[in-house]
Amino acid sequence: MSSKKETPAHALLSASSAERWLNCPASVRLSEGMPDLAGDSAREGTLAHAIAELKLRKQYTEPMGKATFTRRMNKLTKDNALYNPEMQRYTDQYLEFVNSITYAQTTAPFVEVEKKVNYSAYAPEGFGTVDCIVIHGNHLWVIDFKYGKHNKVDAEDNSQLKLYALGVLADYGFIYPIQTVTLCIVQPRMDNIVQWDTEVAALYQWGNEVVKPLAEEAYAGGGECVPGKHCQFCPVKPVCKAYAGKYDVKEEEIKDPQMMNASEMAQMLAKLEGVVNYHKKLKEYALTKALEGLTIPGFKVVEGRSTRSFKDLDAAFQKIKEAGFDESLLYERVPLTLTGVEKLLGKNQFDSLLAADVVKPQGKPTLVPEDDKREPFKPKSAAEVFKDIQV
Ligand code: SF4
Repeated sequence: MSSKKETPAHALLSASSAERWLNCPASVRLSEGMPDLAGDSAREGTLAHAIAELKLRKQYTEPMGKATFTRRMNKLTKDNALYNPEMQRYTDQYLEFVNSITYAQTTAPFVEVEKKVNYSAYAPEGFGTVDCIVIHGNHLWVIDFKYGKHNKVDAEDNSQLKLYALGVLADYGFIYPIQTVTLCIVQPRMDNIVQWDTEVAALYQWGNEVVKPLAEEAYAGGGECVPGKHCQFCPVKPVCKAYAGKYDVKEEEIKDPQMMNASEMAQMLAKLEGVVNYHKKLKEYALTKALEGLTIPGFKVVEGRSTRSFKDLDAAFQKIKEAGFDESLLYERVPLTLTGVEKLLGKNQFDSLLAADVVKPQGKPTLVPEDDKREPFKPKSAAEVFKDIQV
């Protein structure tokens, strides 16, 4: 048995969860030992990152021939149920973004892919991996590729990227005269490519005055549970009482016994925001525990619904044909969706051939909290609605 101490895959005070532990330090120790409920989308993101990494390595740090590149790409994608060809397009967009920075410099910049960083000077045992860094002169770019398609990630004041930047400065701050740091998020599935500039002095101040005390409190297991937006990916969420308190709706809060007024509706909406997702997470967690043997009073585990399918589709269809049915009756002809056509043609050909044929109807009005970044809904006039419809 090796006497070497294994380095854990993720830091306790990870950069990706910094927004959470900076707002709720207690969540760090409470999360220990909680089951990992990461679904297919997290695994899909890991695969997309591996593809993106290979492309960047080929371009910047490990020049390789076509055969080697193809072999390594196939190793990642072939027979991988999580692979979708659209990953190529999205990772190309990421590569193009990095190229747009490096090609704009007057001399070749320093580029590092999957850079391991250590920010333990600010957060105990803090380390992580940055997708890509570029350094030129006194300028550092910290670039993070995001594959999610549900939550838009902002670059402005992004705690994860700021911690990465502090880690990069710990390694390279003595070698390069870095003054300006640009934090970049490339989230192609949401058309979200954003960046934000800050100064090294501001980062050091944030690291020392904000991160250090909160990280120490979190590491020591101190602090109260403080619910908020940062709870979204917290592993404690399914069983956290502070979070559950959000849904603790008391009857006396509704003053008129028959009808709510606008402010009561607002209070109730704020309380119920996210309740469906919370219920789903709690159910997943409880199922995991029940399968481990925990009795949850009033609940039991049963077999879920499943759908019938042919053991061998070809053999079954052969029997149908032998029974006298024409093969054409066994298949439906369905048109490709717009996304399917775009995949088939590629974005450039799709745009040049079909741009004028695409209409995007106005989205359904949706009620969201006031701080949502989308523009308020403006109903289209009848003339605008019918503009694209030819009679
Ligand atoms: S769910 Fe929210 S309040 Fe509860 S521990 Fe996690 S971050 Fe803190």
